[in-house]
Amino acid sequence: MPIYEYDCRKCKISFAVLHAAKAGSAKCPNCDSEDVKKKISACSSFSPVCGVKKTGSSGGG
Ligand SMILES: [Zn+2]
Repeated sequence: MPIYEYDCRKCKISFAVLHAAKAGSAKCPNCDSEDVKKKISACSSFSPVCGVKKTGSSGGG
């Protein structure tokens, strides 16, 4: 299940929320505020920086 990162505008913390199927509203675990902003996860399926292993590289394997 995907994990979404949020930034709280109130107390300026970042936290992660687990979403089962759809991304709904998240609450800050610190101040219980709903004024949060979803962050772009660095590890997305379309992101090139997601532990992508090099393929077709030179080397005797
Ligand atoms: Zn907060």
